[in-house]
Amino acid sequence: MSDSFSTRDYKHLRCGELTTIGGIDYRMLRHPMEAVSTTFCATCGKQFPLIEFEWADNGENLQEYRSNMATSSSIIGRLLVGVIPVVVLAGFVYVAVTRYSTPNLKLIGFGILAMFGALIVTAIAVNAIFRVKAAER
Ligand SMILES: [Zn+2]
Repeated sequence: MSDSFSTRDYKHLRCGELTTIGGIDYRMLRHPMEAVSTTFCATCGKQFPLIEFEWADNGENLQEYRSNMATSSSIIGRLLVGVIPVVVLAGFVYVAVTRYSTPNLKLIGFGILAMFGALIVTAIAVNAIFRVKAAER
Protein backbone atom coordinates (compact mmCIF):
# COMPACT_ATOMS: atom_id res chain seq x y z
CA MET A 1 0.00 0.00 0.00
CA SER A 2 1.26 3.44 -0.92
CA ASP A 3 1.74 6.00 1.83
CA SER A 4 -0.65 8.47 0.20
CA PHE A 5 -3.41 6.00 1.08
CA SER A 6 -2.45 5.63 4.74
CA THR A 7 -4.64 8.46 6.09
CA ARG A 8 -7.55 10.53 4.79
CA ASP A 9 -9.86 13.19 6.24
CA TYR A 10 -13.63 12.99 6.25
CA LYS A 11 -16.21 15.53 7.29
CA HIS A 12 -19.14 14.81 9.59
CA LEU A 13 -22.03 16.64 7.89
CA ARG A 14 -23.97 17.08 11.14
CA CYS A 15 -21.22 19.06 12.94
CA GLY A 16 -19.12 20.05 9.88
CA GLU A 17 -15.85 19.01 11.54
CA LEU A 18 -13.04 16.88 10.08
CA THR A 19 -11.76 13.56 11.41
CA THR A 20 -8.57 11.90 10.11
CA ILE A 21 -8.85 8.16 9.55
CA GLY A 22 -5.83 5.88 9.25
CA GLY A 23 -4.36 2.48 9.98
CA ILE A 24 -6.65 -0.50 10.49
CA ASP A 25 -9.83 1.63 10.56
CA TYR A 26 -9.11 3.10 7.14
CA ARG A 27 -8.15 -0.30 5.76
CA MET A 28 -11.49 -1.72 6.96
CA LEU A 29 -13.43 1.22 5.51
CA ARG A 30 -11.74 0.69 2.13
CA HIS A 31 -12.30 -3.06 2.13
CA PRO A 32 -15.57 -4.03 0.41
CA MET A 33 -15.68 -7.31 2.37
CA GLU A 34 -15.72 -5.72 5.82
CA ALA A 35 -19.12 -4.97 7.36
CA VAL A 36 -18.65 -1.26 8.04
CA SER A 37 -21.84 0.79 8.46
CA THR A 38 -20.75 3.49 10.93
CA THR A 39 -17.61 5.52 11.55
CA PHE A 40 -16.23 7.75 14.29
CA CYS A 41 -16.49 11.54 14.53
CA ALA A 42 -13.64 12.92 16.67
CA THR A 43 -15.56 16.13 17.42
CA CYS A 44 -18.83 14.47 18.51
CA GLY A 45 -16.88 11.63 20.15
CA LYS A 46 -19.02 8.76 18.85
CA GLN A 47 -20.04 6.59 15.90
CA PHE A 48 -22.52 7.73 13.23
CA PRO A 49 -23.87 6.08 10.05
CA LEU A 50 -21.58 6.40 6.99
CA ILE A 51 -24.30 8.37 5.17
CA GLU A 52 -23.57 11.31 7.55
CA PHE A 53 -19.95 11.63 6.33
CA GLU A 54 -18.15 12.78 3.18
CA TRP A 55 -14.48 12.83 2.14
CA ALA A 56 -12.92 16.23 2.75
CA ASP A 57 -10.87 16.09 -0.49
CA ASN A 58 -13.59 15.28 -3.04
CA GLY A 59 -16.94 15.55 -1.20
CA GLU A 60 -17.90 11.94 -1.99
CA ASN A 61 -20.32 10.46 0.52
CA LEU A 62 -18.75 7.59 2.50
CA GLN A 63 -21.79 5.36 2.03
CA GLU A 64 -21.65 5.85 -1.77
CA TYR A 65 -17.87 5.39 -1.68
CA ARG A 66 -18.37 1.90 -0.21
CA SER A 67 -21.17 1.01 -2.61
CA ASN A 68 -19.09 2.09 -5.61
CA MET A 69 -16.17 0.04 -4.38
CA ALA A 70 -18.39 -3.03 -4.00
CA THR A 71 -19.65 -2.55 -7.57
CA SER A 72 -16.18 -2.26 -9.09
CA SER A 73 -15.05 -5.32 -7.12
CA SER A 74 -17.89 -7.38 -8.57
CA ILE A 75 -16.97 -6.21 -12.10
CA ILE A 76 -13.36 -7.30 -11.52
CA GLY A 77 -14.69 -10.59 -10.14
CA ARG A 78 -16.84 -11.23 -13.21
CA LEU A 79 -13.90 -10.41 -15.49
CA LEU A 80 -11.71 -12.94 -13.68
CA VAL A 81 -14.38 -15.65 -13.93
CA GLY A 82 -14.79 -14.90 -17.63
CA VAL A 83 -11.13 -14.59 -18.59
CA ILE A 84 -9.12 -17.09 -16.53
CA PRO A 85 -10.86 -20.28 -17.82
CA VAL A 86 -10.46 -19.08 -21.43
CA VAL A 87 -6.76 -18.42 -20.85
CA VAL A 88 -6.38 -21.94 -19.39
CA LEU A 89 -8.07 -23.50 -22.46
CA ALA A 90 -6.05 -21.32 -24.85
CA GLY A 91 -2.85 -22.48 -23.14
CA PHE A 92 -3.71 -26.15 -23.64
CA VAL A 93 -4.77 -25.59 -27.27
CA TYR A 94 -1.58 -23.63 -27.97
CA VAL A 95 0.61 -26.44 -26.62
CA ALA A 96 -1.49 -29.12 -28.38
CA VAL A 97 -1.11 -27.38 -31.76
CA THR A 98 2.46 -26.06 -31.58
CA ARG A 99 4.30 -28.87 -29.76
CA TYR A 100 3.05 -31.77 -31.88
CA SER A 101 3.28 -32.51 -35.62
CA THR A 102 -0.50 -33.09 -35.71
CA PRO A 103 -2.74 -31.30 -33.16
CA ASN A 104 -2.95 -33.40 -30.00
CA LEU A 105 -6.72 -33.89 -29.55
CA LYS A 106 -6.34 -35.63 -26.20
CA LEU A 107 -4.55 -32.57 -24.86
CA ILE A 108 -7.29 -30.28 -26.21
CA GLY A 109 -9.91 -32.46 -24.52
CA PHE A 110 -7.98 -32.22 -21.29
CA GLY A 111 -7.81 -28.45 -21.82
CA ILE A 112 -11.62 -28.29 -22.00
CA LEU A 113 -11.88 -30.20 -18.71
CA ALA A 114 -9.26 -27.89 -17.18
CA MET A 115 -11.28 -24.89 -18.40
CA PHE A 116 -14.36 -26.07 -16.49
CA GLY A 117 -12.20 -26.81 -13.46
CA ALA A 118 -10.72 -23.30 -13.64
CA LEU A 119 -14.22 -21.84 -14.04
CA ILE A 120 -15.44 -23.52 -10.85
CA VAL A 121 -12.30 -22.70 -8.84
CA THR A 122 -12.29 -19.06 -10.03
CA ALA A 123 -16.00 -18.60 -9.28
CA ILE A 124 -15.58 -19.99 -5.75
CA ALA A 125 -12.46 -17.87 -5.10
CA VAL A 126 -14.06 -14.68 -6.45
CA ASN A 127 -17.17 -15.27 -4.34
CA ALA A 128 -15.07 -15.72 -1.23
CA ILE A 129 -12.91 -12.65 -1.91
CA PHE A 130 -15.52 -10.18 -3.16
CA ARG A 131 -18.59 -11.09 -1.13
CA VAL A 132 -20.21 -7.92 0.15
CA LYS A 133 -22.86 -7.73 2.80
CA ALA A 134 -26.17 -6.79 1.18
CA ALA A 135 -26.90 -4.52 4.15
CA GLU A 136 -24.03 -2.24 3.07
CA ARG A 137 -25.69 -1.11 -0.14
ZN1 LIG B 1 -19.46 15.26 14.39
